[in-house]
Amino acid sequence: MNLLDLIEELGLEPRKTSISRGGEYHCPCPGCAGTDRFMLWPEEDRYWCRQCGMKGDAIQFCRDFQGLSFRSACAKVQKDPVDLNFRLRRQPNPVPTRVPTSSWEEKAKIFVEKSAQRLLIDIAAVKLLLQRGLTLDSIKKNRLGWNPLKLFCRRTDWGLEETEERQWVCLPAGFVIPIFESEDIQKLKIRKSEWKEGDFYGKYYEVPGSSPILPIFGNPSNETVIIVESEFDAMLVVQEAGDLCACVALGGAQKRPHPFLHEWLLNRKLILFALDFDEAGKKEYAYWHKSYPNLAPWPIPEEKSPGDYFSKGGSLKKWILSGLQS
Ligand SMILES: [Zn+2]
Repeated sequence: MNLLDLIEELGLEPRKTSISRGGEYHCPCPGCAGTDRFMLWPEEDRYWCRQCGMKGDAIQFCRDFQGLSFRSACAKVQKDPVDLNFRLRRQPNPVPTRVPTSSWEEKAKIFVEKSAQRLLIDIAAVKLLLQRGLTLDSIKKNRLGWNPLKLFCRRTDWGLEETEERQWVCLPAGFVIPIFESEDIQKLKIRKSEWKEGDFYGKYYEVPGSSPILPIFGNPSNETVIIVESEFDAMLVVQEAGDLCACVALGGAQKRPHPFLHEWLLNRKLILFALDFDEAGKKEYAYWHKSYPNLAPWPIPEEKSPGDYFSKGGSLKKWILSGLQS
C-alpha cells in the first residue's frame, strides 16, 4: 500500500497538483484539516503538512493517523522492519500546532477583504505604507488592509469561547496584516495606529484565535533565509531581495519555530539572523545560535531595523548580498 491508498482509506481525495517528484498531491490534513495544506509525494514515499508539521513516510502515516504500532505499520505497507534504518523508528510526531477554527477563518477572511478594500481608497493610509518602502504591488500581494475604527465583535461570532469576563474580540484601528497559508488564513495582526512610544501594550496586536505559526515570506525553496522581527520588514526584504532569500518574521523576539519551520530552517544552507543585539536580544541570539549550526548573525549595518535602514536610503539587496558572501 502506498501513501495514496492510505490517505484514500481515510476518505480523503488528494488532488494532483504537479508532476514534480513523480507527482505531488494536495488534500486536507488528516491531523488538522484545512483544504490543501497536506502534501504528498507517493513516488518518494513522503508527506508533510504545511500547517501542523506532521511529516514522514507511509509507515509514519499509519502510526500518526491510523493509530498503528511500528510493527503493524510495517506489515500494512509490506516492509520488513528489520530492513528499515533507524530514521524510520523515530518517535511519533509531536502534537499538531493549534489551528484557527473554521468560523474564525471565515470571520477573519471577511474582515481582511473589507480592510484591504478600505486601504486602497484611503490615500493617507496607503501613503504611510509607501513611506515604509513597500510598493503598491507588495501591499496588494500581502493583502494588507486598513481598519479605520476600533471594532468590538462577539467572541462566539469568531468561534471563540465566551466567558463572563471575556465576551468581546477587540479589533483596534490600524494596519491589518493577514498571514495566509496558501488560501487559508492563519493569523491576523493589527499594527495599531494609536500606538505611542512608552505605551503599556505593544505596537502589534494579534487577534485571539490566530495560529501561533511563524510565517515564511517569499519563496520557501530559497536556500538562504533571513530572520527579522516584524512582518513589515519581512515583506520589504522579499520585495527588495526575494530572489536572494526567503524571510521569517518572528513578530516578537521570544518567539520560537514550530516543528515544521524548525526542520525547514535546519535544511537551509544559511540562516542570517538580523534581530537586535540589545541586552534582551543577546539572550535570544544564544538560543538561535545553539539550535541552528547554519546560522550567522547579520545585523542591519545602521538604524534599528531593515525598514528604518531602507527608508534612510540603505540597500537591503546589498546588505543581504554581503551576508551571503561573508
Ligand atoms: Zn496538519
